[in-house]
This record gives sequence, C-alpha cells and structure tokens, in this order.
Amino acid sequence: FDANHYRGRFAPSPTGDLHFGSLVAAIVSYCQAKANNGQWLVRIEDVDETRVVEGADKQIIKTLRRFGMESDLPIIYQTDPDRKAAYASAFKNLEQMNLTYPCVCTRAILKGTDSYPGTCKETQVDLELPHSVRLKVSGESFRFADLFQGHQSQNIQQQCGDFNIKRKDGLFCYQLAVVVDDADQGITEVVRGIDIMDSTGRQMYLNQVLNLPQPQYAHFPVITNVLNNKLSKQNHAKAITSEDPFNTTKMALKLLQQEVPVLNRPSQAELMAFAVTHWQPQKLKGIESIVY
Ligand code: GLU
Repeated sequence: FDANHYRGRFAPSPTGDLHFGSLVAAIVSYCQAKANNGQWLVRIEDVDETRVVEGADKQIIKTLRRFGMESDLPIIYQTDPDRKAAYASAFKNLEQMNLTYPCVCTRAILKGTDSYPGTCKETQVDLELPHSVRLKVSGESFRFADLFQGHQSQNIQQQCGDFNIKRKDGLFCYQLAVVVDDADQGITEVVRGIDIMDSTGRQMYLNQVLNLPQPQYAHFPVITNVLNNKLSKQNHAKAITSEDPFNTTKMALKLLQQEVPVLNRPSQAELMAFAVTHWQPQKLKGIESIVY
C-alpha cells in the first residue's frame, strides 16, 4: 500500500438501513475517493454492540451495491476479534502512559456539565463499582484545515474534558475504535458529516498520543428537513431501500450542488461514474447544512 495514495472510507453504524442522510455520506465519500484516484472502503461501525440491529449491516451493503458503490477491500467490522484486539492494545498503551483513570460518575451526577470536571481523577475510586475509563486530555487546541469547512480549532479540555474511551459495560468507545481503525486501514482523508466534526479534536489528540498519522478531514454539510432537524434514524428518516436508485442519486447530487446528466438516462454505474468525473468538492465549501 502506497502511503501517498488516497484512501477514504464510509463507516456506517448498523442501527438500521441507510436513510437519505447516510446515503449522501456514502456518495460524498465515494466521489471524493474516486475523484482522487483513490480507494473507498466500507467499515461497519458496530463497536456499540447494544445498538446493533440484526441484519442492518447486510441491508446497508446491499443498498450501497444497488447504488453502484462497492468497497475496494473486504469490509471490516468493529466486532471482528482482531479489531477488538487492536482496540485493547491501544487502550493498554494509553494505560501504560498513565493517561487513563477509572470513573464511577453517573450520567445523573454529570447532568448539566459540558466538560467533565475531573471528579474521579484525583480520587481513589472503588473498582468494584461499575466504572468507565477516561482519557486525560491536554489543554492545547487542535487545528485542522477542513476541506469543506475551512480552518478549525478545537480545545477538547473546554469542549468535553477527559473523555471516556471504555464504557461501564466494558465496550470500547467510538473515539478510540475509529482512530485505531482509520490508522490500521491507512485512511488518508476522513470524509463525514459536519455533525461529527466536534469529535475531530478528540481523534486528533488520540492520534497524537498513540503516535498514529493525522489524516485530512472533510466535513460535508448535514442534510436537514425543513424543520432544520438532521435526517437520522432517530427522527425516523425514511429508509431508502424501496426508492429508485437513479432518482435518489440524482436528487442527492443536485442537493450537493453537483452536475447531473441531462440527456439520456444512464445506468446506475454510469451515473456514479458521471458523478465522479464531474465531482466538484469546492461547491460544498463553507456550507453547513442543506435542506432536503
Ligand atoms: N459510524 C458513524 C456514523 O454512522 C460515522 C463515524 C465516522 O465517520 O467517523 O455516524
């Protein structure tokens, strides 16, 4: 694998089938990877096993295929034993660097605080109690030049403070899993929705302390409904399984300010190839949301 080669990914959580918002995420990451002559990888983010909906992974993969998007490498799952071992090893490194501590705080106690006040940092907690494990953060600001959103600076101490990397139920947290996966898969650019942008500082910090490469970041605008609610499974955005891929893709491309073919009706594969050759990421610069 050539380190100068572009590698992007689409990392859906299998909590239901793709809805229009997640389809847009797939299309943006796909076009960006292919327009850079890169590889596009699909990764199933089932690290939060408690939220997995059985069969959703298969459904997502099937839907992506119907839309003409296929992972260039075998799809990995965060529940694969080798992935779990990789998270455990990164976790152990952090423990050995003395960057972690157990935390017994409950959600109720922390209610109303944005940034973790460090309650369990200096105290000896009873390890018999259910506890999460937090990562000590630093006060520095993490800066990155986002392809779509421009210069960003995030101070994670102010934003969230020491954050959890392992949950009370023993599962590793998304933030830890995602940086280990992105590094192991050689991801050069993380393309995802702006709604996840506030995780980037934490991920850059994790990359720094774990000595992992810092990828580029590109947070595209979130697709909202007219009430300004993000389209998500939580607000029952319609699954796109039953819809016609051609028209749905065309609508997505139009919303993303991209060109669509005007003359005859191409096949889905041709439509995706058209989207890639006409891909203009600069059209999304500075746009934070798009009404669907
Ligand atoms: N699994 C996350 C989601 O479905 C995406 C995380 C990421 O792209 O970093 O929202």
